Amino acid sequence: AKQSGRNNYQFFVPEMNQRAMQRLQLETALRRAIERGEMVLHYQPQMELETARIDGCEALVRWQHPERGMVPPIEFIPLAEESGLILPLGDWVLREACAQQARWARAGMPLAMAINIAALQFQQAEFVPRLRQILQETGADPRYIELEITEGALLASTDELVERLDALCAMGLSLALDDFGTGYSCLAYLKRLPIQRLKIDRSFIKDLPGDLEDAAIAAATLSMARDLGMRVVAEGVENPAQRDYLMARGCHAIQGYLIGKPQPAAAFEAWLRQQEG
Ligand code: C2E
Ligand code: CA
Ligand code: CA
Ligand code: CA
Repeated sequence: AKQSGRNNYQFFVPEMNQRAMQRLQLETALRRAIERGEMVLHYQPQMELETARIDGCEALVRWQHPERGMVPPIEFIPLAEESGLILPLGDWVLREACAQQARWARAGMPLAMAINIAALQFQQAEFVPRLRQILQETGADPRYIELEITEGALLASTDELVERLDALCAMGLSLALDDFGTGYSCLAYLKRLPIQRLKIDRSFIKDLPGDLEDAAIAAATLSMARDLGMRVVAEGVENPAQRDYLMARGCHAIQGYLIGKPQPAAAFEAWLRQQEG
């Protein structure tokens, strides 16, 4: 059916034809890549500012393409979300990141593991049972697992959603609101939902401390988080001036090239041991 379908595309206008073909090819390639084990996770360190200790990391997916090399997530995550392929991909990420958390804990490196969860993935009815199963099978410690969700996952603010969040917290997991400030921040839900951390988006950190608007947004986020009893992690911190600005305003943790870039597990582990040794 795929073969004859391919011929049909020739009736479209050439540009659409090409784009549709590219999408289809990418989707097929992505599906195969998941099956063939071409997906890898890189880990980026997070530093707790008060102690200057690396206390966690974020798992970030990459596609190790046999010809194209390391493909960044921006080139396939949006398509994976549109096509639903984010479900098998997200499932793989969840399992791999949990397995890594357990391996590091056994090796005497108990690190918090932040895992990105797509809205579609989070909204599946099977999400909580599936997660429970993965925790059990991998031996990951839920107290060291943090799920990064975006405001998009919280839009349908139903009883069911609140129940799901409560169930996750009851399991010992924590929740972080990713890309904070970039969505339709309906701040009302923050007081109702059990979310422990806000993750200030890099777009607000990039021009700190010089940019007045960004400085105001970062400072306001930190102050609000404090009053709500939430912790804050800033992403995309690249220089000491940004770190100092955030630290002076009570930011709890930072993540960014200043501390370290995302790296494969073995390189991350070697880097961490060097930091500590
Ligand atoms: P994100 O969740 O906001 O992740 C942070 C992104 O900022 C990462 O890009 C990271 O490499 C990059 N970054 C961190 N520190 C710095 C810095 O100091 N400077 C600069 N310029 N960039 C920095 P990456 O790995 O390319 O990921 C891009 C996005 O792809 C992520 O944004 C996330 O939305 C998505 N993504 C990555 N992995 C997964 C995954 O496993 N599942 C899902 N659903 N989405 C993922
Ligand atoms: Ca994230
Ligand atoms: Ca972000
Ligand atoms: Ca500005």
